[in-house]
Amino acid sequence: MSTDIASTKESIVRDHIRLTSHTIDLPSIPPINWGAATPQERGPVVGTVTERAHRNCIGSHSGSYTIYRALSIASGKFPKAHKPDLNNTQPTDTISPQPSWSMPDKIISLDPWGANIVEDFGDYLEHGYNIQPTIAVTKAHLQLPEIKEAIREKRLEADGKFVTASGDVRVTKIAIDPVWHLPSIAKRFGLTEAALRKILFRETGGMFPELVTRSDLKILLPPIGSTTAYVFGNVSDLSNPEVELTCRVHDECNGSDVFGSDICTCRPYLTYGIEDAVRTAQRGGVGLIVYFRKEGRALGEVTKFLVYNARKRQKGGDSAATYFERTECVAGVQDARFQELMPDVLHFFGITKIHNLHSMSNMKHDAIVNSGIEVINRLSIPDDLIPPDAQVEIEAKKAAGYFSVAGAKQGEQLEKVKGRDLD
Ligand SMILES: [Zn+2]
Repeated sequence: MSTDIASTKESIVRDHIRLTSHTIDLPSIPPINWGAATPQERGPVVGTVTERAHRNCIGSHSGSYTIYRALSIASGKFPKAHKPDLNNTQPTDTISPQPSWSMPDKIISLDPWGANIVEDFGDYLEHGYNIQPTIAVTKAHLQLPEIKEAIREKRLEADGKFVTASGDVRVTKIAIDPVWHLPSIAKRFGLTEAALRKILFRETGGMFPELVTRSDLKILLPPIGSTTAYVFGNVSDLSNPEVELTCRVHDECNGSDVFGSDICTCRPYLTYGIEDAVRTAQRGGVGLIVYFRKEGRALGEVTKFLVYNARKRQKGGDSAATYFERTECVAGVQDARFQELMPDVLHFFGITKIHNLHSMSNMKHDAIVNSGIEVINRLSIPDDLIPPDAQVEIEAKKAAGYFSVAGAKQGEQLEKVKGRDLD
């Protein structure tokens, strides 16, 4: 953003604050009308611990980092009463309000009004309410070896627009913290609100007593990881069903995504998704990768590594035929990821149609379709991108009914798919 534009924006914000500040009688605890059509009617989510009297939700911002903040305050390094200076932090791209933002039950696990705090809730900010954005939008360049390889192999072109001459990919990235509307979450999972509150209270070891003592507080800022959306092309095109959209919804796998561990197909899926998302933008469409912090099928990395050992040490070695069984023995379930909340982020962007969905997972596909989004094509990655040791995972998933263009092995053929020993 140029300095001129930034200073014009600042003066707009200052004017806005000055014009509205003296005309509104602000309630001590701002009410939240979830699903309201404007930010003013909806009201701000106030999760600060610095002005406790203004709080209208359970938990605190950046939920999973709360403990680090507490330790930082305890060590004297972090000013306890710190209020963020939001000057110049506004989104680089506007995500316009969508019809889905005010449809009951469509978006229940994030705050669609969480990005433009300075504009939408300037009057509250001026009166000392410590309101924090739960969504931030910025721009970046990605440098990925797989993208450079795709350019070398002429699958992708360095067009100077979406891909720079040096092979960097231009992207808009959007970080989204979880904001849960408890009555709607309960409804989506077929529970009563009281039952949901009780089980969240119990299973976190009683971390948030307000879950059971304050039924008037309907919002929870859960201590779980955030979600990041990477958009290739115009963010505003995501809501236009006429513009081709290529999308991957990806669940975190640190071992593969970051370190290139070869036991699974996560990083190849991610980088191939990015490659195809960029290609789509280059032919006039738009690409979207959504990255969810749900490590190890939301069972965590310790459980995941225990499962790897159990798989590789079992009699007969690691095998596609027993892949899911070994996971269930250690973890209690084959997969703790529920995908019911995943489509919320797609509805935040106003998506109604996905032309190309990069995923094998029927759980993901069904959650998207059942939430009212049309999916035209389903895509799996080319076979030559699958690491040899990940054949066990991929064949087990195909045999279990996951989507694949190539089809699945069964019986004896499946039993023959073996992984490497521990070494
Ligand atoms: Zn993985």
